[in-house]
Amino acid sequence: MRLLLHICCGPCAVYPVSVLEEEGVDFEGLFYNPNIHPYDEFVRRKENVGEFAKIKNFSVKYMDDFSQDIWEKLGEDNENRCNMCYTVRIDKVAQFAKENGFDAFTTTLLVSPYQKHELIVELSEKAAQKYGLTFYYKDFRPGFRQGQQWAKELGLYRQKYCGCIISYRESEKLKNERKKSK
Ligand code: SF4
Repeated sequence: MRLLLHICCGPCAVYPVSVLEEEGVDFEGLFYNPNIHPYDEFVRRKENVGEFAKIKNFSVKYMDDFSQDIWEKLGEDNENRCNMCYTVRIDKVAQFAKENGFDAFTTTLLVSPYQKHELIVELSEKAAQKYGLTFYYKDFRPGFRQGQQWAKELGLYRQKYCGCIISYRESEKLKNERKKSK
């Protein structure tokens, strides 16, 4: 089985990659995250994935799509915005997997307790059916803290917000409120 691993960022990739290695899965990574804002953050996360892949010696493809408009338009409505964000990314990953001879795909989004896990699973299953692929499901969440610790030890950049412009604004707001209360 050839598996395509969608990678949302370096730190989230650490634990899932350790599991795939342990299980002897033949995999390649794909960075496709047009949601990440601002552009320098997009580049930083992308390069960080490259650094990690180099350390672990696996191959990664990159899609340079960067598009903020749709995320901004959906604004504060987290449910619709995240649904769209996962749908766009998962569908593209499954399409890429199909077009490039992979049998299965999965995503590092499944490691984070902060993501909408059940929704990611549901959308991935739909995409797998649409493209005639296997969705390689693993609940990586029990390894999240361990993965973050390994990422720290490897010196990987660990971002403080999910990715889109709205999550960026929310984190900036929180940062300013914390500063004020000191
Ligand atoms: S909060 Fe995260 S998952 Fe939701 S839209 Fe923003 S980047 Fe995507």
